[in-house]
Amino acid sequence: MSDILTPLTPWLNALDSEQETMLKHTISLAEINSGSFNAPGVNRVLAAVRELAKPLAGKEEVIELKPFEVINDKGEAELHTLGNALRISKRPEAPLRVFLCGHLDTVFAENDSFQTVRHLDDDTINGPGVADLKGGIVVMLKALQALENSPWAEHIGWEILFNPDEEIGSPSSVKLIVEAAKNVNVGMLYEPSFPDGSLAGQRKGSGNFTAVCFGKAAHAGREHHLGRNAIRSLCDFVSKMDQLNGKREGVTFNPGYINGGGATNIVPERCISRFNIRIEKPDDDQWCIDQLQMIVNEINTRNGISLELHGSFGRGPKVLTPANRKLFSLAQECGYALGMSIDVKPTGGCCDGNNLASAGIPNIDTLGVQGGNIHSDREYMKISSLVPRAKLSAALLMTLARNQAEGIGNDWLKETDSR
Ligand SMILES: [Zn+2]
Repeated sequence: MSDILTPLTPWLNALDSEQETMLKHTISLAEINSGSFNAPGVNRVLAAVRELAKPLAGKEEVIELKPFEVINDKGEAELHTLGNALRISKRPEAPLRVFLCGHLDTVFAENDSFQTVRHLDDDTINGPGVADLKGGIVVMLKALQALENSPWAEHIGWEILFNPDEEIGSPSSVKLIVEAAKNVNVGMLYEPSFPDGSLAGQRKGSGNFTAVCFGKAAHAGREHHLGRNAIRSLCDFVSKMDQLNGKREGVTFNPGYINGGGATNIVPERCISRFNIRIEKPDDDQWCIDQLQMIVNEINTRNGISLELHGSFGRGPKVLTPANRKLFSLAQECGYALGMSIDVKPTGGCCDGNNLASAGIPNIDTLGVQGGNIHSDREYMKISSLVPRAKLSAALLMTLARNQAEGIGNDWLKETDSR
């Protein structure tokens, strides 16, 4: 082990014997169904995670979140109950505070056929959420335990947030992330890394929207002229929106769902479309809203047609600040010392790291396990990544704590120019 980690060796090496336990915990968490809308299931995962976190002896709070509002196919608002969030914190008065975050939910609904974990080979398990993000939860807790066992723990404070709604864009838990950002200096999030162990760097921002178009029903034969066709107007909206692709660098519009009409002898009175927008720069969101509003205004001048737009940009782009770049360098240095080579790659995907970055907190959001094919029934996790990833996080935490202990400090985390 090279210089940077030499003093940490005993606490890092103590993790070597943990693979079996970590694997067992990952499997037991993954086998509880925790689709974002299965609130009781998510709460069972919460209870199990709370049990696993007991040895850390932090202050625990179970937080109820407001229900998630979806615009349904009828164009009406529909509420979905969400599971609770769990916040655990320790030494909130410490001069340096770390925010750790992992989500409790998965994309696999309660009635999905993908419910259990199996071994694909000696080093690979396949199961719902094994990589995204149950393995990451286990990695985070082991790394924190290593910090707590070390002599530097008292020099930093930490706050963990386990949230129940990340897979639907953290609509309700985002306020807890923004709240945390006021009290912390650095973020560590446990989404899976890329399959080769690389970390996600810059990330695009994302917004989900629903356009609801109302026209007027009429008999298609007898009174076609009295009808106002909602499908036609919504299709015009979708087509004009799609034409915005390529108009601004790094910005994409994706019409993803459409529903409307009924019997073919009726002029359809209602049609809805859901779509996603990805953005690259913080001011892209306003540009998109302005463009969409112009299209909506034009369509609303049509006699008997009304088009409503719902939704927002739930995640701003994650732009790398100087502090965030240095944080990646530190992770790479720790990784190198542990014999891991770690690349940092940009991605169009987003996660809670976006929201934390938007709130000004440098963070690494792919500190979880190595795995792949997430959000599909081919999702897998590499068993042999559990211990090294726990060591990587433990090394980062202990290095930050040791910098505090030795008076070196971590002022570099506050460099925010060029945001
Ligand atoms: Zn995830």
